[in-house]
Amino acid sequence: MIVLKFGGTSVADAERILGVAAIVKARAGSRPLVVVSALAGVTDLLARAVACAKAGDREGIEPLLSDLARRHRWAISGAVEPAGARHDLTLQVDGMLEDLRQLLRSVRLLGEGTPRASDTLLAFGELMSSRIVAAAFRASGLPSRWVDPREFVVTDDRHGAATADVEATGERARPLVTEALDAGEIPVVGGFVGATREGHTTTLGRGGSDTSAAVLGAALLASEIQIWTDVDGILSADPRVCPEARVCARVAFAEAAELAFYGAKVLHPAAIAPAVARGIPVRVLNSLRPQGAGTVVVAEPGEGAPPLVAVASRGGATLVRLRSRRMRIDAGFLPQALAALEAEGVVPDLVVSSEVGVAAAVAGRLDAKRLATRAGDGVEVEIHPEQGIVCIVGSGLATDGRIRGRVLAALAEHDPALVSLGGSGTSVSALVAETRLADVVRSLHRTFFEGGGG
Ligand code: ASP
Ligand code: MG
Repeated sequence: MIVLKFGGTSVADAERILGVAAIVKARAGSRPLVVVSALAGVTDLLARAVACAKAGDREGIEPLLSDLARRHRWAISGAVEPAGARHDLTLQVDGMLEDLRQLLRSVRLLGEGTPRASDTLLAFGELMSSRIVAAAFRASGLPSRWVDPREFVVTDDRHGAATADVEATGERARPLVTEALDAGEIPVVGGFVGATREGHTTTLGRGGSDTSAAVLGAALLASEIQIWTDVDGILSADPRVCPEARVCARVAFAEAAELAFYGAKVLHPAAIAPAVARGIPVRVLNSLRPQGAGTVVVAEPGEGAPPLVAVASRGGATLVRLRSRRMRIDAGFLPQALAALEAEGVVPDLVVSSEVGVAAAVAGRLDAKRLATRAGDGVEVEIHPEQGIVCIVGSGLATDGRIRGRVLAALAEHDPALVSLGGSGTSVSALVAETRLADVVRSLHRTFFEGGGG
Protein backbone atom coordinates (compact mmCIF):
# COMPACT_ATOMS: atom_id res chain seq x y z
CA MET A 1 0.00 0.00 0.00
CA ILE A 2 0.99 3.65 -0.29
CA VAL A 3 0.12 6.73 1.75
CA LEU A 4 -0.98 9.89 -0.05
CA LYS A 5 -1.08 13.06 2.02
CA PHE A 6 -2.73 16.26 0.80
CA GLY A 7 -2.00 19.55 2.55
CA GLY A 8 -4.40 22.39 3.25
CA THR A 9 -3.90 24.20 -0.05
CA SER A 10 -4.49 20.95 -1.96
CA VAL A 11 -7.93 20.69 -0.32
CA ALA A 12 -8.61 24.44 -0.10
CA ASP A 13 -11.95 24.33 -1.93
CA ALA A 14 -14.25 22.12 -4.01
CA GLU A 15 -12.21 22.51 -7.18
CA ARG A 16 -8.97 21.48 -5.48
CA ILE A 17 -10.70 18.60 -3.71
CA LEU A 18 -11.93 17.28 -7.06
CA GLY A 19 -8.35 17.62 -8.33
CA VAL A 20 -7.25 15.44 -5.41
CA ALA A 21 -9.90 12.87 -6.33
CA ALA A 22 -8.43 12.69 -9.85
CA ILE A 23 -4.90 12.23 -8.48
CA VAL A 24 -6.01 9.45 -6.15
CA LYS A 25 -8.06 7.77 -8.86
CA ALA A 26 -4.96 7.51 -11.04
CA ARG A 27 -3.20 5.71 -8.16
CA ALA A 28 -6.10 3.60 -6.92
CA GLY A 29 -4.32 0.42 -8.04
CA SER A 30 -1.52 0.97 -5.48
CA ARG A 31 -3.88 0.57 -2.50
CA PRO A 32 -3.66 4.13 -1.19
CA LEU A 33 -4.49 5.39 2.27
CA VAL A 34 -5.32 9.09 1.99
CA VAL A 35 -4.38 11.57 4.73
CA VAL A 36 -5.72 15.12 4.51
CA SER A 37 -5.12 18.42 6.27
CA ALA A 38 -7.86 20.83 7.21
CA LEU A 39 -9.00 23.14 4.42
CA ALA A 40 -6.34 25.86 3.97
CA GLY A 41 -6.43 28.39 6.79
CA VAL A 42 -8.98 26.48 8.87
CA THR A 43 -6.61 25.49 11.69
CA ASP A 44 -5.65 29.16 12.01
CA LEU A 45 -9.34 30.11 12.26
CA LEU A 46 -9.89 27.45 14.91
CA ALA A 47 -6.83 28.59 16.88
CA ARG A 48 -8.16 32.14 16.82
CA ALA A 49 -11.58 30.96 17.97
CA VAL A 50 -9.97 29.08 20.87
CA ALA A 51 -7.98 32.19 21.81
CA CYS A 52 -11.15 34.31 21.75
CA ALA A 53 -13.02 31.77 23.87
CA LYS A 54 -10.25 31.71 26.47
CA ALA A 55 -10.27 35.50 26.56
CA GLY A 56 -14.05 35.53 27.00
CA ASP A 57 -14.44 37.39 23.71
CA ARG A 58 -17.87 36.35 22.49
CA GLU A 59 -18.06 38.86 19.63
CA GLY A 60 -14.74 37.65 18.29
CA ILE A 61 -15.94 34.06 17.94
CA GLU A 62 -19.04 34.65 15.82
CA PRO A 63 -17.41 35.83 12.58
CA LEU A 64 -14.89 33.00 12.83
CA LEU A 65 -17.67 30.44 13.16
CA SER A 66 -19.52 31.95 10.19
CA ASP A 67 -16.35 31.82 8.15
CA LEU A 68 -15.84 28.15 9.05
CA ALA A 69 -19.45 27.30 8.18
CA ARG A 70 -19.27 29.13 4.86
CA ARG A 71 -15.97 27.50 3.82
CA HIS A 72 -17.12 23.96 4.58
CA ARG A 73 -20.61 24.29 3.13
CA TRP A 74 -19.16 25.82 -0.03
CA ALA A 75 -16.71 22.94 -0.41
CA ILE A 76 -19.50 20.40 0.08
CA SER A 77 -21.81 22.09 -2.41
CA GLY A 78 -19.13 22.05 -5.09
CA ALA A 79 -17.59 18.64 -4.53
CA VAL A 80 -20.29 16.29 -3.26
CA GLU A 81 -22.96 14.59 -5.36
CA PRO A 82 -25.71 13.42 -5.67
CA ALA A 83 -28.07 15.80 -3.88
CA GLY A 84 -28.91 13.20 -1.21
CA ALA A 85 -25.28 12.69 -0.22
CA ARG A 86 -24.71 16.42 -0.28
CA HIS A 87 -27.68 16.97 2.00
CA ASP A 88 -26.60 14.28 4.47
CA LEU A 89 -23.05 15.56 4.70
CA THR A 90 -24.20 19.16 5.09
CA LEU A 91 -26.35 18.10 8.04
CA GLN A 92 -23.45 16.18 9.54
CA VAL A 93 -20.99 19.06 9.17
CA ASP A 94 -23.56 21.54 10.48
CA GLY A 95 -23.93 19.29 13.51
CA MET A 96 -20.15 19.35 14.02
CA LEU A 97 -20.11 23.13 13.73
CA GLU A 98 -22.85 23.27 16.35
CA ASP A 99 -20.77 21.03 18.65
CA LEU A 100 -17.84 23.33 18.04
CA ARG A 101 -19.95 26.34 18.99
CA GLN A 102 -21.05 24.66 22.24
CA LEU A 103 -17.52 23.66 23.16
CA LEU A 104 -16.22 27.16 22.50
CA ARG A 105 -19.05 28.48 24.65
CA SER A 106 -18.03 26.22 27.53
CA VAL A 107 -14.43 27.40 27.27
CA ARG A 108 -15.61 31.00 27.21
CA LEU A 109 -17.90 30.62 30.21
CA LEU A 110 -15.33 28.75 32.23
CA GLY A 111 -12.75 31.31 31.17
CA GLU A 112 -10.18 28.59 30.75
CA GLY A 113 -9.19 26.22 28.03
CA THR A 114 -6.87 23.40 28.94
CA PRO A 115 -4.47 22.08 26.29
CA ARG A 116 -6.73 19.05 26.14
CA ALA A 117 -9.81 21.18 25.37
CA SER A 118 -7.83 23.11 22.81
CA ASP A 119 -6.86 19.88 21.00
CA THR A 120 -10.48 18.75 20.88
CA LEU A 121 -11.33 22.06 19.21
CA LEU A 122 -8.38 22.20 16.79
CA ALA A 123 -9.14 18.66 15.60
CA PHE A 124 -12.43 19.79 14.05
CA GLY A 125 -10.62 21.08 10.96
CA GLU A 126 -9.27 17.69 9.89
CA LEU A 127 -12.35 15.82 11.10
CA MET A 128 -14.50 17.94 8.78
CA SER A 129 -12.16 18.11 5.78
CA SER A 130 -11.61 14.35 5.75
CA ARG A 131 -15.35 13.65 5.69
CA ILE A 132 -15.76 16.06 2.79
CA VAL A 133 -12.88 14.52 0.87
CA ALA A 134 -14.22 10.99 1.42
CA ALA A 135 -17.64 12.08 0.11
CA ALA A 136 -16.07 13.89 -2.85
CA PHE A 137 -14.21 10.69 -3.76
CA ARG A 138 -17.48 8.77 -3.82
CA ALA A 139 -19.01 11.54 -5.97
CA SER A 140 -16.09 11.06 -8.38
CA GLY A 141 -16.81 7.35 -8.64
CA LEU A 142 -14.06 6.37 -6.24
CA PRO A 143 -15.33 4.08 -3.46
CA SER A 144 -13.99 5.40 -0.17
CA ARG A 145 -14.39 5.05 3.56
CA TRP A 146 -13.91 7.76 6.19
CA VAL A 147 -11.84 6.50 9.08
CA ASP A 148 -11.38 8.21 12.44
CA PRO A 149 -7.76 8.96 13.45
CA ARG A 150 -8.82 9.02 17.12
CA GLU A 151 -9.44 5.29 16.86
CA PHE A 152 -5.96 4.32 15.74
CA VAL A 153 -3.36 7.11 15.84
CA VAL A 154 -2.15 6.36 19.36
CA THR A 155 -0.19 9.19 21.00
CA ASP A 156 1.22 10.29 24.32
CA ASP A 157 -0.63 12.98 26.26
CA ARG A 158 1.51 15.99 25.35
CA HIS A 159 -1.46 17.97 24.08
CA GLY A 160 -0.64 20.35 21.26
CA ALA A 161 2.54 18.48 20.32
CA ALA A 162 1.80 14.83 20.89
CA THR A 163 4.07 12.03 19.67
CA ALA A 164 2.55 8.97 18.06
CA ASP A 165 3.55 5.44 18.99
CA VAL A 166 4.26 3.78 15.65
CA GLU A 167 3.89 0.18 16.91
CA ALA A 168 0.62 0.79 18.76
CA THR A 169 -0.72 2.78 15.82
CA GLY A 170 0.14 -0.07 13.47
CA GLU A 171 -1.67 -2.62 15.61
CA ARG A 172 -4.86 -0.58 15.60
CA ALA A 173 -4.67 0.81 12.08
CA ARG A 174 -3.81 -2.41 10.23
CA PRO A 175 -7.16 -4.20 10.57
CA LEU A 176 -9.19 -1.07 9.80
CA VAL A 177 -7.14 -0.02 6.80
CA THR A 178 -6.77 -3.52 5.39
CA GLU A 179 -10.47 -4.16 5.68
CA ALA A 180 -11.32 -0.99 3.76
CA LEU A 181 -8.72 -1.67 1.05
CA ASP A 182 -9.78 -5.31 0.68
CA ALA A 183 -13.36 -4.10 0.25
CA GLY A 184 -12.13 -1.92 -2.63
CA GLU A 185 -12.61 1.28 -0.65
CA ILE A 186 -10.00 3.98 -0.18
CA PRO A 187 -9.60 4.89 3.48
CA VAL A 188 -9.55 8.65 4.07
CA VAL A 189 -8.29 9.99 7.39
CA GLY A 190 -7.70 13.45 8.83
CA GLY A 191 -4.06 14.17 9.60
CA PHE A 192 -2.75 16.12 12.60
CA VAL A 193 -5.14 14.31 14.98
CA GLY A 194 -4.71 11.34 17.28
CA ALA A 195 -5.81 10.21 20.71
CA THR A 196 -4.20 9.00 23.91
CA ARG A 197 -4.70 5.42 25.06
CA GLU A 198 -7.45 6.79 27.32
CA GLY A 199 -9.18 8.17 24.24
CA HIS A 200 -8.52 11.88 24.71
CA THR A 201 -8.11 13.74 21.44
CA THR A 202 -4.59 15.05 20.76
CA THR A 203 -2.90 16.98 17.98
CA LEU A 204 0.61 16.44 16.66
CA GLY A 205 1.65 20.10 16.43
CA ARG A 206 1.19 22.61 13.61
CA GLY A 207 2.00 21.09 10.24
CA GLY A 208 1.36 17.73 11.88
CA SER A 209 -0.40 16.11 8.94
CA ASP A 210 2.97 15.27 7.41
CA THR A 211 3.78 13.51 10.66
CA SER A 212 0.50 11.60 10.48
CA ALA A 213 1.37 10.44 6.98
CA ALA A 214 4.86 9.39 8.08
CA VAL A 215 3.60 7.58 11.17
CA LEU A 216 0.88 5.74 9.27
CA GLY A 217 3.24 4.90 6.42
CA ALA A 218 5.76 3.55 8.91
CA ALA A 219 3.12 1.72 10.95
CA LEU A 220 1.62 0.06 7.87
CA LEU A 221 4.96 -0.50 6.10
CA ALA A 222 3.88 1.46 3.05
CA SER A 223 6.07 1.14 -0.03
CA GLU A 224 6.03 4.94 -0.44
CA ILE A 225 4.61 8.04 1.22
CA GLN A 226 3.60 10.86 -1.08
CA ILE A 227 3.31 14.37 0.33
CA TRP A 228 1.18 16.35 -2.13
CA THR A 229 1.68 20.07 -1.75
CA ASP A 230 1.81 23.21 -3.90
CA VAL A 231 5.44 23.14 -5.03
CA ASP A 232 7.13 20.82 -7.51
CA GLY A 233 9.45 19.30 -4.93
CA ILE A 234 12.71 20.24 -3.29
CA LEU A 235 14.51 22.68 -5.59
CA SER A 236 18.20 23.12 -6.31
CA ALA A 237 17.96 26.80 -5.23
CA ASP A 238 15.38 29.33 -4.12
CA PRO A 239 13.51 30.03 -7.39
CA ARG A 240 12.90 33.65 -6.38
CA VAL A 241 16.65 34.15 -6.32
CA CYS A 242 17.61 31.76 -9.08
CA PRO A 243 15.08 31.21 -11.88
CA GLU A 244 17.22 28.33 -13.18
CA ALA A 245 16.47 26.28 -10.07
CA ARG A 246 15.24 22.80 -10.90
CA VAL A 247 13.59 19.99 -9.01
CA CYS A 248 15.97 17.57 -7.28
CA ALA A 249 14.98 14.05 -8.22
CA ARG A 250 16.37 12.46 -5.09
CA VAL A 251 17.60 13.89 -1.81
CA ALA A 252 19.06 12.07 1.20
CA PHE A 253 17.51 12.72 4.58
CA ALA A 254 20.59 14.57 5.92
CA GLU A 255 20.57 16.79 2.83
CA ALA A 256 16.86 17.55 3.26
CA ALA A 257 17.46 18.45 6.90
CA GLU A 258 20.26 20.82 5.91
CA LEU A 259 18.05 22.48 3.29
CA ALA A 260 15.17 22.89 5.72
CA PHE A 261 17.54 24.64 8.10
CA TYR A 262 18.31 27.16 5.37
CA GLY A 263 14.70 27.91 4.79
CA ALA A 264 13.43 25.40 2.22
CA LYS A 265 9.88 25.25 3.56
CA VAL A 266 8.75 22.29 1.50
CA LEU A 267 8.92 19.69 4.18
CA HIS A 268 10.04 19.48 7.75
CA PRO A 269 12.45 16.55 7.97
CA ALA A 270 11.64 15.88 11.61
CA ALA A 271 8.05 15.22 10.56
CA ILE A 272 9.01 12.42 8.21
CA ALA A 273 11.78 10.91 10.32
CA PRO A 274 9.68 7.93 11.50
CA ALA A 275 9.22 6.83 7.89
CA VAL A 276 12.72 7.54 6.64
CA ALA A 277 14.21 5.70 9.61
CA ARG A 278 12.30 2.60 8.47
CA GLY A 279 13.57 2.93 4.93
CA ILE A 280 10.29 4.15 3.45
CA PRO A 281 10.81 6.72 0.68
CA VAL A 282 8.91 9.99 1.05
CA ARG A 283 8.07 11.75 -2.20
CA VAL A 284 7.08 15.42 -2.43
CA LEU A 285 4.72 16.23 -5.32
CA ASN A 286 2.69 19.18 -6.62
CA SER A 287 -1.07 18.67 -6.66
CA LEU A 288 -1.39 21.46 -9.23
CA ARG A 289 1.03 19.68 -11.60
CA PRO A 290 0.51 16.01 -10.83
CA GLN A 291 2.44 14.82 -13.90
CA GLY A 292 5.77 15.85 -12.29
CA ALA A 293 7.96 13.22 -10.61
CA GLY A 294 8.64 15.41 -7.57
CA THR A 295 11.50 14.81 -5.14
CA VAL A 296 11.99 11.60 -3.25
CA VAL A 297 13.62 11.77 0.18
CA VAL A 298 15.50 8.61 1.12
CA ALA A 299 17.52 7.58 4.16
CA GLU A 300 20.93 7.42 2.43
CA PRO A 301 22.21 8.95 -0.82
CA GLY A 302 22.82 5.53 -2.39
CA GLU A 303 24.71 4.44 -5.52
CA GLY A 304 25.02 7.00 -8.29
CA ALA A 305 23.51 9.81 -6.23
CA PRO A 306 24.63 13.28 -7.34
CA PRO A 307 27.42 14.57 -5.06
CA LEU A 308 25.72 17.96 -4.68
CA VAL A 309 21.98 18.61 -4.54
CA ALA A 310 21.35 22.28 -3.94
CA VAL A 311 22.58 25.73 -3.06
CA ALA A 312 20.59 27.16 -0.19
CA SER A 313 20.70 30.75 0.96
CA ARG A 314 19.38 33.02 3.63
CA GLY A 315 19.72 36.77 4.09
CA GLY A 316 19.41 38.84 7.25
CA ALA A 317 22.54 37.53 8.93
CA THR A 318 25.10 39.40 11.00
CA LEU A 319 28.80 38.65 11.25
CA VAL A 320 30.27 38.93 14.73
CA ARG A 321 33.98 38.80 15.46
CA LEU A 322 35.23 38.48 19.00
CA ARG A 323 38.98 38.85 19.42
CA SER A 324 41.10 38.40 22.45
CA ARG A 325 43.17 41.54 23.02
CA ARG A 326 45.88 39.37 24.45
CA MET A 327 46.55 38.13 20.91
CA ARG A 328 46.13 34.55 21.86
CA ILE A 329 43.06 32.59 22.67
CA ASP A 330 42.65 31.82 26.33
CA ALA A 331 41.43 28.45 27.36
CA GLY A 332 37.68 28.81 27.54
CA PHE A 333 37.50 31.76 25.13
CA LEU A 334 35.19 29.96 22.69
CA PRO A 335 32.64 28.97 25.36
CA GLN A 336 32.92 32.49 26.79
CA ALA A 337 32.19 34.00 23.36
CA LEU A 338 29.28 31.64 22.77
CA ALA A 339 27.90 32.39 26.23
CA ALA A 340 28.02 36.13 25.50
CA LEU A 341 26.08 35.54 22.28
CA GLU A 342 23.61 33.28 24.03
CA ALA A 343 23.03 35.89 26.69
CA GLU A 344 22.09 38.24 23.84
CA GLY A 345 19.52 35.69 22.78
CA VAL A 346 21.24 34.50 19.62
CA VAL A 347 22.46 31.08 18.61
CA PRO A 348 25.10 31.26 15.89
CA ASP A 349 24.40 29.48 12.60
CA LEU A 350 28.09 29.26 11.70
CA VAL A 351 31.14 29.48 13.94
CA VAL A 352 34.82 29.56 13.07
CA SER A 353 37.42 29.89 15.75
CA SER A 354 41.18 30.44 15.74
CA GLU A 355 44.04 31.19 18.08
CA VAL A 356 43.02 34.79 18.67
CA GLY A 357 39.37 35.00 17.92
CA VAL A 358 35.95 33.67 17.11
CA ALA A 359 33.81 34.63 14.12
CA ALA A 360 30.15 33.73 13.99
CA ALA A 361 27.20 34.30 11.73
CA VAL A 362 23.94 34.91 13.55
CA ALA A 363 20.41 35.47 12.34
CA GLY A 364 19.13 39.01 12.83
CA ARG A 365 20.85 41.99 14.35
CA LEU A 366 23.02 42.47 17.41
CA ASP A 367 23.79 45.39 19.68
CA ALA A 368 27.58 45.82 19.53
CA LYS A 369 27.85 47.79 22.77
CA ARG A 370 25.84 45.36 24.84
CA LEU A 371 27.72 42.42 23.43
CA ALA A 372 31.06 44.09 24.20
CA THR A 373 29.97 44.65 27.80
CA ARG A 374 28.96 41.04 28.15
CA ALA A 375 32.11 39.71 26.51
CA GLY A 376 34.28 41.57 29.03
CA ASP A 377 37.37 43.75 28.96
CA GLY A 378 39.88 41.60 27.22
CA VAL A 379 37.63 41.15 24.18
CA GLU A 380 37.29 43.28 21.09
CA VAL A 381 33.90 43.07 19.34
CA GLU A 382 33.29 43.79 15.70
CA ILE A 383 29.87 43.56 14.05
CA HIS A 384 28.97 43.56 10.35
CA PRO A 385 25.24 43.46 9.67
CA GLU A 386 23.55 42.78 6.32
CA GLN A 387 25.24 39.52 5.51
CA GLY A 388 23.87 36.49 3.74
CA ILE A 389 24.62 32.81 4.21
CA VAL A 390 25.09 30.66 1.15
CA CYS A 391 25.27 26.93 1.67
CA ILE A 392 26.11 24.21 -0.80
CA VAL A 393 24.52 20.92 0.18
CA GLY A 394 25.45 17.44 -0.93
CA SER A 395 26.58 14.14 0.56
CA GLY A 396 29.52 14.16 -1.89
CA LEU A 397 31.16 16.82 0.27
CA ALA A 398 31.85 14.14 2.87
CA THR A 399 33.05 11.47 0.49
CA ASP A 400 34.73 13.16 -2.46
CA GLY A 401 37.78 15.36 -1.87
CA ARG A 402 37.75 16.59 -5.45
CA ILE A 403 34.21 17.90 -5.09
CA ARG A 404 35.11 19.53 -1.79
CA GLY A 405 38.05 21.26 -3.46
CA ARG A 406 35.95 22.53 -6.35
CA VAL A 407 33.30 23.89 -3.97
CA LEU A 408 35.85 25.67 -1.80
CA ALA A 409 37.51 27.15 -4.88
CA ALA A 410 34.18 28.37 -6.23
CA LEU A 411 33.28 29.94 -2.89
CA ALA A 412 36.70 31.59 -2.59
CA GLU A 413 36.01 33.51 -5.81
CA HIS A 414 33.27 35.40 -4.02
CA ASP A 415 35.52 36.73 -1.28
CA PRO A 416 33.54 35.31 1.64
CA ALA A 417 33.92 36.79 5.12
CA LEU A 418 33.75 33.33 6.63
CA VAL A 419 33.69 29.77 5.35
CA SER A 420 32.58 26.77 7.33
CA LEU A 421 33.34 23.22 6.24
CA GLY A 422 33.09 20.04 8.20
CA GLY A 423 30.37 20.98 10.65
CA SER A 424 27.97 18.52 9.13
CA GLY A 425 29.71 16.64 6.36
CA THR A 426 26.86 17.38 3.97
CA SER A 427 27.32 21.12 3.56
CA VAL A 428 29.76 23.96 3.13
CA SER A 429 28.57 27.41 4.11
CA ALA A 430 29.95 30.88 3.52
CA LEU A 431 29.04 34.38 4.49
CA VAL A 432 28.90 37.16 1.89
CA ALA A 433 27.49 40.69 1.86
CA GLU A 434 23.73 40.50 1.53
CA THR A 435 23.79 42.77 -1.53
CA ARG A 436 25.85 40.13 -3.34
CA LEU A 437 23.97 37.09 -2.07
CA ALA A 438 21.66 36.60 -5.07
CA ASP A 439 24.53 36.91 -7.54
CA VAL A 440 26.62 34.44 -5.59
CA VAL A 441 23.75 31.94 -5.48
CA ARG A 442 23.20 32.24 -9.23
CA SER A 443 26.88 31.90 -9.97
CA LEU A 444 27.30 28.80 -7.78
CA HIS A 445 24.15 27.32 -9.24
CA ARG A 446 25.50 27.86 -12.73
CA THR A 447 28.79 26.21 -11.81
CA PHE A 448 27.41 23.14 -10.08
CA PHE A 449 23.84 22.58 -11.19
CA GLU A 450 23.45 23.80 -14.75
CA GLY A 451 24.68 22.24 -17.94
CA GLY A 452 25.46 18.87 -16.46
CA GLY A 453 27.82 20.24 -13.80
CA GLY A 454 27.89 19.14 -10.17
N1 ASP B 1 -3.99 21.67 9.76
C1 ASP B 1 -2.82 21.61 10.60
C2 ASP B 1 -2.05 22.89 10.48
O1 ASP B 1 -2.42 23.75 9.71
C3 ASP B 1 -1.97 20.43 10.30
C4 ASP B 1 -1.43 20.37 8.89
O2 ASP B 1 -2.01 20.98 8.00
O3 ASP B 1 -0.42 19.72 8.66
O4 ASP B 1 -1.08 23.05 11.16
MG1 MG C 1 -1.91 23.07 7.16
